[in-house]
Order: sequence, then structure tokens, then C-alpha cells
Amino acid sequence: MALTFRGGIHVEENKNTSRMRIEPMSDPDVVSIPMAQHIGAPAQPLVKKGDRVLIGQKIGEVPEGALGCPVHSSVSGIVTDISKKITPSGAKVEYITIENDHKNERTEDNKPIGKKLSEATPEEIIELVREAGISGMGGAAFPTYAKMKSAIGKADTLIVNCAECEPFITVNHRLLLEKPTDVINGVKVMIRALGVKQAFIAVEDNKQDAVKLMEKYAEKTSMISVKVVKTKYPQGDERQLIYALTRKEVPVGKLPADVGCVIFNPETCAAVYNAYSTGHPLRARIVTVDGDCIRRPKNLLVPLGTSISDLISYCGGLVKTPKKIVIGGPMMGVAQWDASMPVTKSTSAVLVFSEKFDRKKVEHPECIHCGRCVNNCPMHIMPMYIAQFSMKNDLASAEEYGAMCCVECGSCSYNCPAGVDIVQHIRVVKAAIKNEKSRLAAQEKK
Ligand code: SF4
Ligand code: SF4
Repeated sequence: MALTFRGGIHVEENKNTSRMRIEPMSDPDVVSIPMAQHIGAPAQPLVKKGDRVLIGQKIGEVPEGALGCPVHSSVSGIVTDISKKITPSGAKVEYITIENDHKNERTEDNKPIGKKLSEATPEEIIELVREAGISGMGGAAFPTYAKMKSAIGKADTLIVNCAECEPFITVNHRLLLEKPTDVINGVKVMIRALGVKQAFIAVEDNKQDAVKLMEKYAEKTSMISVKVVKTKYPQGDERQLIYALTRKEVPVGKLPADVGCVIFNPETCAAVYNAYSTGHPLRARIVTVDGDCIRRPKNLLVPLGTSISDLISYCGGLVKTPKKIVIGGPMMGVAQWDASMPVTKSTSAVLVFSEKFDRKKVEHPECIHCGRCVNNCPMHIMPMYIAQFSMKNDLASAEEYGAMCCVECGSCSYNCPAGVDIVQHIRVVKAAIKNEKSRLAAQEKK
């Protein structure tokens, strides 16, 4: 039987692109690359306006000792602008804009490790991953080298999160089908660096073709096994996946490594293998482009920094008036206000929806105390109370009821018969609690 967690919901899958092969998109004429595509300090530009850059050339680096990833050019061409702009997640950072000369010239700076895996040290692999600018490609964008470093000595189990539970997105599914050896080899590199005892490749039971293929490759090594998890939302949430596979609960405020696990996305593993075998940094990623407004939905391999509008044009443009453009899945993705936003290391999908997909707004939503949100919450908190505390700006009670445990999955809002926008109220109160804590900490320092 497929493994799973308690709570969660069943959402309409809409995996329209699951049979569509990954198509390399023709390189755009211009890329605009943000210096922060990762959690941590933004990188600082290493080039200036007018410079010629090559594919794979490092164009941004984080200050020494700071958490963060270097940034590389995804095309060859001329730097035409360096200025501050908004990122898809709402931060304001510097962007390097490059006009593509379409010569596709690659720097010779990127070198593979040049050793058998059994001879490479964990330090060498981690440094290679850092230099390649790899950050989590599932959405969280945490620098991969830092996660690896912090898991060494603590984690004995590596989990590859191929659950892909958000509707529409089929990036991981296609990667497992089309590049299974890149993922498996990436897992082997990770095992070598982390010194873990075992690795689980977790795939949802609606992707039986990928399960079979991964089992075929995994059976050649005793350390890697494939685990089939139930198709349920949010199965891909780290805490839920760990519980499903190991029955361990990650305590609030702790990390997966505190219960002996470390989790990576399969595309991250494939990027690690690419860096190990070729020395090439992360310069492109797979993106699902879908939604009822898109003429020809696709899975595209896209150079980082390509604009959403270029992706939409490449897919044949729009067939309806869009109401919303979302980067990421419809449950946890972020709605965008500008189609010039770039594809970054964590962009798994660009979804364009018409009004038909809009959530029906209730004028004055009032909780009818049905308890559905409590049953659905994978974190076992009481969403409706926390939402009410948020509306009253009662931060202390919201915190007491576990607001900070909320993973913002949206399962509570999805099925609320009264139309209460529960997760939005919880997001607001979480931000207010964080701000209040920073204010108090700053006051104490004075
Ligand atoms: S699901 Fe909606 S109506 Fe039901 S208890 Fe939760 S907030 Fe109230
Ligand atoms: S309260 Fe948070 S964790 Fe629980 S269902 Fe709602 S969004 Fe998900």
C-alpha cells in the first residue's frame, strides 16, 4: 500500500503535460538574471554594463562567509543593464540584463571534478555544488551546498522528493522518465558527499511509469530504493514526506536533519550530477507552462532569466484573457503582476488562468464551524481559530494556537464551504508575529 501522512486533501490533478517531452526552448534574445534566486544574501555583480559574457561565466558572487549562491550567465552576449527590480517573490534586487548574441559560446572556467566518485572527498563535492550555484529547485531555493554541509553527521537517510503533488506541474515526472540516470547518478554523488546509509526515491502512485523506471535503475545499487507514496496534497511537503516514509515527526522549529533525514528535489540531484560530470553550473531548468489560457501547454528547458512573456509566446500565446499568472503551482505558487518576470532556479511552472479558475469570492465569509479545515490540516493545528485571531490582530493567541507551524499549503482554504480565505489570514498573522519578534529583538539590543 502507498505510504502517506495524516490529513491533506485530494485536488484535481490537471497533469495535462504529463505526456509532453521536455523541449529545449530556443534561446531568448534577452535574459534578465536576478542576483537573488536563493535563500540568503543576494549575490553582487562581477560584471559591468558593456562587458561581454559567456555561457556558464560567473556574473555574481555572494560576500565571503554569507549564505547564498553564485549566479552564472545563461547565454553569451553583452551586458546591457544592471539595475534593481522586483523578483517573482516580491524582493527588490539587482538584475543583470544580457543581450544574447546567439553565438552560444561557453566559458572554459567550468571544469569537472576529474576524479572517480570513490576518490572525491565530501569537501570537494560540496565546493563543486557551491561553485555551480545550485539551490533547491523544488521551490524553497535553499542553497544546496549549505543543506549538504549541515546534514553531514546528522542525517543517515537521503530522500529524493519526486512527489510533485501540486496540480498541473509535471517537471519531475518528465525528468524521471527522460533522464533517470542523471537523477540516480546525482543521488550517488549526494550519498558519497553526505555519507548517508540509504536513499529513498519517493514517487506518488499516480506516476507508475516513473516508479517502474526508477526501480529498474535503483535495483543495481543496494543503497537506493524507490518508495511509492499516496497521491495526496501536500504529499511533497518535507514534513509530510518524512512522516510517510519513516513515521518520524519533525518537531516545530527543527529541521529534517534533526530526525536523521535530508531531502532534495530530483532536478537538484540531476544538476549536482551535471556539475560533477561536466563542471557546468546551473544555467537552465525545466518549466511546465500550462493553464487554460495557454495555446500549447509544454514542458520546456529554459535558460535562467528568460521572461514569462517569452515562455508564453513560445507556447503559441494566449487563447483567452488571463485573470492570473502564477509562478509555481496553483496551491502554493505566487501570482505575478508583470509578465516580464524572469524564470529563476526555483521556477517549476508558469500557469496562466482565466476567470474560470478564479476562486469564488464570498462577500462576508463567516465560519460555520464545520471542522473541515481541522481535518484537512496536515500540521494538525486549528486553522479557523488562527484565522480569527489574525482578523482580531491577536498575535499572542495565534502563536499559542500554532500559527508558526503552518506550512501555508492552503488545504484549509481549498475545502472551506464558507469561503473563508484561511491561509491568507494565517500568512498575515505569521508575518506580524515575525515582525513583532524582530522589533522586540532590536529594542533589546539598544
Ligand atoms: S472549513 Fe471553513 S467553515 Fe469549516 S470550520 Fe474551517 S473555517 Fe469554518
Ligand atoms: S493551517 Fe496551514 S498547514 Fe494547516 S491546512 Fe491551512 S495552510 Fe495548510
